[in-house]
Amino acid sequence: MEELINRLKSGTYTKDDLVSALNIPDEEKFMPLFNLSEQICEEYFGKGVFIRGIIEYSNKCRKNCNYCGIRRGNEKVLRYLIKPEEIYKVAEKLKAQGVMTLVLQGGEDAESDPMLLDVIKQIRTKYEMAITISIGERPFEVYKQFKEAGADRFLLRIETTNPVLFKALHPDDDLEYRKKCLLWLKELGYQVGTGIMTGLPGQTMEMIAGDLLYFKELQPAMLGIGPFLPHEDTPLGNEKPKELFLTLKVLALIRIMLKNVNLPATTAMGTLDKDGRKKAMMYGANVFMPNYTPAPYRESYLLYDNKICVKEDCSNLCAGGIIKSAGKFVAQGRGDYKSF
Ligand code: SAM
Ligand code: SF4
Repeated sequence: MEELINRLKSGTYTKDDLVSALNIPDEEKFMPLFNLSEQICEEYFGKGVFIRGIIEYSNKCRKNCNYCGIRRGNEKVLRYLIKPEEIYKVAEKLKAQGVMTLVLQGGEDAESDPMLLDVIKQIRTKYEMAITISIGERPFEVYKQFKEAGADRFLLRIETTNPVLFKALHPDDDLEYRKKCLLWLKELGYQVGTGIMTGLPGQTMEMIAGDLLYFKELQPAMLGIGPFLPHEDTPLGNEKPKELFLTLKVLALIRIMLKNVNLPATTAMGTLDKDGRKKAMMYGANVFMPNYTPAPYRESYLLYDNKICVKEDCSNLCAGGIIKSAGKFVAQGRGDYKSF
């Protein structure tokens, strides 16, 4: 174990080392790696956690990802597109609460791009806040338009880098094209976020180790890691989620490997385990993303069963309580990625 930790610390690890670390069977044995992850997190971010307010602006989607509750094939979903005025209201609320990042996330709803472009331009001129978009795959030219409109960051998870698993999950997508999208986004100057789901049906520790090596090469600004959770109206509805421990191991290894990357404590972690986000912030996460989607729409953005923060009134206060319980505090500022 000591040798493994030393190789991880010095960056001389192999893929087999990553597999061995992922296979560590209990939290007690993994604790030295959790401690190392948190130590590195504090070296770069202190005990501060950045809050990013997320609005799920549209649940219309042209894709049919097999895990996702708002996939186009789910006819039970009541589809919506939030009006610009409702987004501006949330921006005002964020400003009043001192939250400096607005995340606009939606299904792959390219028809709403003109509206979204306009919203981004308006927010850019009126507010200081950073704008993150998470809208799926688009051609290079469209990503460029969004950048020029004022988007600062882009979140597009690779989900898995294993070609066989990727194909099994994504009937409409091509892994190589998604990788190309991520390179385009970098080229355009976005702070790029990507990530995976952990505990996917058919996913092995070797596959996750491959994902980690891909992250090391890509050097993203942010990595969103969340457990796969089943949604009853999808083809994977009968699958069982894996325990949170696997997600926490992946999070800690990322912190150890990529040091200064922004790592959120995700809603899916909090859904799988009521203390999931707290534990993530104790073991290396430095970002928290409360849900600012206006109440009536939240019920229609159910990516998985039993999603939290749907009925609750989420705000910086709720986030602040969970952050405090992890022994941390709310950091001020936009929390832009800094390369060292
Ligand atoms: N449509 C955009 C995209 O796919 O990039 C953004 C929205 S999509 C709902 C955001 C993320 O939700 C996906 O990257 C995926 O990892 C996550 N997600 C979807 N279904 C999930 C599930 N059943 N369990 C856990 N995470 C899920
Ligand atoms: Fe659509 Fe994104 Fe869900 Fe895939 S993950 S079905 S692209 S919202």
